[in-house]
This record gives sequence, C-alpha cells and structure tokens, in this order.
Amino acid sequence: MTDSKPLTLDDLPVRDELRGKSPYGAPQLDVPVQLNTNENPYPLPEPLVERIAERVAEAARGLNRYPDRDAVELRTELARYLTRTGGHPVATENVWAANGSNEVIQQLLQTFGGPGRTAIGFEPSYSMHGLIARGTGTGWISGPRNEDFTIDVAAAEKAIAEHRPDVVFITSPNNPTGTAVEAETVLALYEAAQAARPSLVVVDEAYVEFSHRASLLPLIENRPHLVVSRTMSKAFGAAGLRLGYLAAHPAVVDAVQLVRLPYHLSAVTQATALAALEHTDTLLGYVEQLKAERDRLVGELRTAGYEVTDSDANFVQFGRFEDSHTAWRRILDHGVLVRDNGVPGWLRVTAGTPTENDAFLDAVRQLKKEQS
Ligand code: PMP
Repeated sequence: MTDSKPLTLDDLPVRDELRGKSPYGAPQLDVPVQLNTNENPYPLPEPLVERIAERVAEAARGLNRYPDRDAVELRTELARYLTRTGGHPVATENVWAANGSNEVIQQLLQTFGGPGRTAIGFEPSYSMHGLIARGTGTGWISGPRNEDFTIDVAAAEKAIAEHRPDVVFITSPNNPTGTAVEAETVLALYEAAQAARPSLVVVDEAYVEFSHRASLLPLIENRPHLVVSRTMSKAFGAAGLRLGYLAAHPAVVDAVQLVRLPYHLSAVTQATALAALEHTDTLLGYVEQLKAERDRLVGELRTAGYEVTDSDANFVQFGRFEDSHTAWRRILDHGVLVRDNGVPGWLRVTAGTPTENDAFLDAVRQLKKEQS
C-alpha cells in the first residue's frame, strides 16, 4: 500500500451502530495488587490442576472428532450442582452452557432480541448487557434505580409498561453496586413484563454464591419466560476457563440452540469444567473466605470514613469522591488497581486475598488523609 495514512476501522464498511465505539474491557495493568475485574484471587488447588490435566489428556485423545455438541455430561453435572445449592431441583434439559455467561447472554439476545426488538436493564448495572444488545442489533433501554442502588419497582414497572421490551435484565447481586434483588421485585417485574408483551426475563446471578441471600433459581418453576444465568468465572475461580450456563424451562434451552454455533463448547472446555465441578466443595470453601474478606472490606472502609453500598457479591462499591477517576489514579499510585465503572462518585474493589485487601485498605486510608 502506498497510502501514507494508516487504515483504521473507521475506514472500513462496519455497521453504522458500531462506528466510533470502543471495545469493552477493564485496563489489564501490570501492578502488584489487581482488584479490578471481580476475579477470584485464589489459583485453582493443585489436586484440581492435576485432575484437569488428566481429563484434558483424555479429551486430547479424541480431538480429531468434534466435541459433544449438546454437552450432555457437563449440563448434567451443572444441573446437579444447581439442585444441590440452588434450592430447586434442576434437570439436564433445564440447563444450557456456553463460553462464559457473556456468550449465554449473547445467545439469549440473538434468540429473543435482535433487530426491531429491545431489551431493558436497570442502571448502573453490568454494562455488557447493553453492549451485547448493541452487538446483536437489539435496541437498549436504560431503566432507573433508586439513590441507594436498589431497583425502584414502581419506576421499573412503568418503564416496562411504556417500552414493552422483549428482554428484561435483572442482575442479582448487581454489578458494580453489589446490591441483591428481592424475589418479590423479580416477581413484580416478571408480571409487568408478561402483561406488557410477554417478554423474557433474565436474572443474571454471576455472583450469587457470594450472596447473603438464597438464589432466585426456584422462581423458574412455572415461569417459562424466566431465565437464571450463572458462571464458573467467579465462585469456581475459573475466569480463564470461559464457562457460563443458564437454567430455564427446557423450551428456552431448545430455543437458544437455534442460534448457537455447532460445537461451540470445545472438548477441552467441557473436560476442564467437569474436572472443576468434581472439586466444588473445595472451591466453595474459598467462597466462604472471600465472603468474610468482603465483609471485612465493608467494615474497614466504613471505619475509614467512606460510604459503602451493602454488598452481596465478591466486590464492594465505595465512595463518595468528587472526582472518582482522580481517586482511582491515586489508589493506583499505591500499586492497587481498582475499577472505575463510570458511576459518578463511586469506585469498585474486588475482594482479594487478606494481604491484597490490606494493601488496598492502606491505600484508601492514605487517600483519606491526603484528602482531609
Ligand atoms: N454477568 C455479570 C453481572 C458479570 O459481572 C460478569 C463478569 N464480569 C458476567 C456476567 C460475565 O462473566 P463470564 O462471561 O466470565 O461468565
């Protein structure tokens, strides 16, 4: 090419709605304490690493063949896990799995959203819901929340009645605020959504294992338009695995198969996830430690003079800052990476190991001193 100006994506014939946009992603900075992406700080235990190696070696011997397209063994084990921990019996036919819950959400929007359709979420919430909506050509509606970040039920019902969305997202516990949603709220919004269209209600429970409250999974009973989505990225400490799943009426599982790519879940992924599920009890033990650390962060941040949103997740929203981005930068200067989610006045910190959390607490105590 002789042209001196380098070609950028803006020069390409991309879809109009993608023009001028940037890809989603938290900064991946190489700093000593990384508490910005709600990962589990504990590496997988060695016996599990060995089990993964065994299971993957077994899978490798059959990699000349496509994997089990319907991931039946994995879905059966996920159903067993949900039945054991979710307070509701779940069968293989109720469960679908994909590469992270992001892909689950994408498949749901490809199936139930799409051009000419809309989805609603109550913001601030997980920004990927809106971004995946955009990527699938689904219109996005930003619904309201109360000042304390709980869902304003009356306002949410009104927004649903007015916009008649095809898909409703409810994130519990919510990211980035940590706020759990009451079952009554989900039921009220489900009723509103059914009266308006009817639409699909997706309860995103990515962080539910860290909650003080029970899962909303039992609500799928007799509610064929209610979906609960989950992930192995947080409680199972396996963000690198990319395994998300949903539980819903079997008809929803049939429906997403209309859009899933054939063999979307590799044999290596299925083998690794199955190995991790064999070690559920050990992994849930780490969850208990992280819950205690999360509660310690809430207490210590309040003692240090910060406002903190009650958290049911493995992270804590704290503030308030006149300029949260400057505060984010100051904390980073102390070698601690937290997240600026763009919620004015607030930042979010993921619960790490006790040592990482101590480093974070030192940094924010220091920041308080600098500011006073
Ligand atoms: N839902 C929520 C609320 C999240 O915060 C995240 C990850 N940050 C996800 C879904 C996606 O997780 P994954 O794709 O790793 O399963």
